Amino acid sequence: MSAISLTNPAVERILRHLLAYGQSLSANLLVIEPSPEDNSQYLVSYRLPDNSQSNFLLPTNLGQAVLTALKEQSKINNRQREGQFTFIYEDQPVYYQVTALAHAKLVLQPINSQPLIAPAHSLGWETPDFELLKQTVMSGQGLVIFLGPRLSGKTSSIYSILNTIKSPQLNITTIEDQPKLRLSDINQIQRQYKVDINQLLRSVATTDPDIIYLNHLDSDLDLSLLTDLTSSKLVILRLQADSLLSALQQLSSLANYDAAIWPRIKLLVNQRLVKKNCAHCLVKGKLDYYTLDDLHNQFELDDTRALRQLDFYQGQGCLNCGHSGYAGQQALFELLPMSEDLATALTQNNHKTKLQDLISQSLATSLFEDAFLKAAKGQTSISQIQALF
Ligand SMILES: [Zn+2]
Repeated sequence: MSAISLTNPAVERILRHLLAYGQSLSANLLVIEPSPEDNSQYLVSYRLPDNSQSNFLLPTNLGQAVLTALKEQSKINNRQREGQFTFIYEDQPVYYQVTALAHAKLVLQPINSQPLIAPAHSLGWETPDFELLKQTVMSGQGLVIFLGPRLSGKTSSIYSILNTIKSPQLNITTIEDQPKLRLSDINQIQRQYKVDINQLLRSVATTDPDIIYLNHLDSDLDLSLLTDLTSSKLVILRLQADSLLSALQQLSSLANYDAAIWPRIKLLVNQRLVKKNCAHCLVKGKLDYYTLDDLHNQFELDDTRALRQLDFYQGQGCLNCGHSGYAGQQALFELLPMSEDLATALTQNNHKTKLQDLISQSLATSLFEDAFLKAAKGQTSISQIQALF
């Protein structure tokens, strides 16, 4: 996605005028095509919020120049039918989704708001975990899987890491059902209804991306294709799963399964969200006997001596947090770098007890560790952790 900057000032002026006019009308769709009635003209039509239409005619040579400029700006060509660009209107960036419906027909859809993307460091990554993730994503090849239940913040984490590492030298392409945010300098492709994911991946591969993000696991995904792609590209896959084991099982139960995928997996990130302690009213204290006993039972701890020594924090409730003791959300992460033993066990289709043992042995950080670490730092409460597991 790039901001409008054209070499031909006349075309640039007309294009700006067309877009600004659309914005002033709050048009939600803009179509540019040769006029069906008069082949010496191009028709620019705006669809307005009340579903009425406003039209504008351009001489063919100008219409063609505008069309070419728009394709160039949104990186649309014979292979790539969709793209985006940014236009500054009244000091605010407006993002346009552009789709080529035919050789000379473009549809532009403005997306006006761009919510802020949290910087990766503010999401609650512990430094060594974040470095591991960043290095893995920057390694340029392999598969990284982000998993978690619904609403566990996977997309925010992925957007945030992509936003952190993006650079003009890096070609990042995302394939998403409905992009939640428009990311500048990242090529976001919206999946069309019933599109063949394998065909789409093959066509994306021809644009030579360094990083591909797939926002869900398609049941017809061909794992041989993914294995091929991940030998020279980094693929990030987001999938809905409650545990690391169930995420791996989803891959092994695909119709187009290929065991060669296992060694390609570099890292799995399992994420949860808990409530964040309100910074204005949190109080430090030792855990009481009953809580220690509950934790002992819930987590089958050998003993609770270590926990007895630590201070934990709980918001008491104040005006800032609406007397709830919490303000905002805190992400918790579990990181599993793929180990040789685990990849072999998966290839041999070992029993899930054996797989679970190997997963536990290979963890770089467990959810349990990250949760208690963050509770001990005051970022969340013990009751939030008890409710999570
Ligand atoms: Zn408070």
